[in-house]
Amino acid sequence: MAENNKIIYFDNAASTEVDKNILLEYNNINSKYFANPSSPHKLAYEISYLYENNKNEILKLFNCPSHNFIFTSSASEANNLALKGIAFMYQNRGKHIISAKNEHPSILETLKQLESFGFDVTYLDVNESGVIDIEQLKTTIRKDTILVSLMVANNETGAINPIKQIIEVIKNYPKIYLHVDAVQAVGKIDLDYKDIDLFTISAHKIHGLKGEGGLAIKNNIKLFPLICGGGQQDGFRSGTIDYANAFCLTKAVSNAFKNRRNSGEIAKINKIIYDYLINNADEYAINSKMVDVNPYILNFSLKRKKASVVVEALSNNNICVSTKSSCHSKSNNESYVIYEQTKDHLLSSNSIRLSFSHLNSVEEANYFVQILDKIIKEIKQ
Ligand code: PLP
Repeated sequence: MAENNKIIYFDNAASTEVDKNILLEYNNINSKYFANPSSPHKLAYEISYLYENNKNEILKLFNCPSHNFIFTSSASEANNLALKGIAFMYQNRGKHIISAKNEHPSILETLKQLESFGFDVTYLDVNESGVIDIEQLKTTIRKDTILVSLMVANNETGAINPIKQIIEVIKNYPKIYLHVDAVQAVGKIDLDYKDIDLFTISAHKIHGLKGEGGLAIKNNIKLFPLICGGGQQDGFRSGTIDYANAFCLTKAVSNAFKNRRNSGEIAKINKIIYDYLINNADEYAINSKMVDVNPYILNFSLKRKKASVVVEALSNNNICVSTKSSCHSKSNNESYVIYEQTKDHLLSSNSIRLSFSHLNSVEEANYFVQILDKIIKEIKQ
């Protein structure tokens, strides 16, 4: 691949290549169904009907017949809506929220904002694999806890939380809602979504369009809306219904579930690189442990070379990877996610994240290993 000057793209946790058919559908739907579905005429009724069918379709894909689905502009917005929506709606029951130290910034920054409104947040620790401890979760729950928000798969390391066990714990507390950030899990990790009170997804991580996310929410739950207006989307998020966007998100989810069949190929790609890293343990420390990890992400730290220098050298060889979460990669060199796992400032300032998709190949993995090895041997530091 790289011989033809093509790019090897191992940054799929940051964003993915848009599926060409989805782009075509987006254009077609926008051209054909441009009317406002709230208007009182034939075209509007048709769009409204198609939109409702599409909403049922996405809930069917997740096997969630008892949920509603709110289409948002991003997973960041969906996470904000879930956390602030529950906090402000149910604050009369209590003001305690539980989350974890290695969550995505769209969770952590929202929680920080809620703290400034008087909410009390407990951040669970993670172990050396980046996973929370169920016993700590149990002992952290209080009488005034109203919400637990934990991600399925971490966006930097792929670490997978024990969502099934978390659901079992929360089931014993009918007044606590469980929100799950499933952005890096859709089509990658098997999960019983129907048992989760609220979950967040994003289109551009699964070969859909940017600017599309969503929040699924059990029918009996209410939310304090962040956007008020015409009362669209059952009052949860006002703003003219965007059927084209909704359709394309559903299509991306459907494709992601179909592409799950190719996960054997991803495991092979991951193993080729993992084996190279582990056989060169004097240079590399692996942050994505083999157990409880999403194989689509492989994170490692450099022990003797600077990650930014290596990432730039890889980029000069047409290989795209990240130093850490793209949401934070320009702000400060240290990854708080890797720090929470390793408690090591050197390793957490020197991490590299590879993230794969069904478009990657074993040949690319072999080529990557060859180039990385060459770069590491050439750099003098
Ligand atoms: N949650 C996780 C776990 C993510 O990886 C991301 C994106 O990096 C987000 C939320 C935010 O997604 P979006 O770009 O759709 O706002």
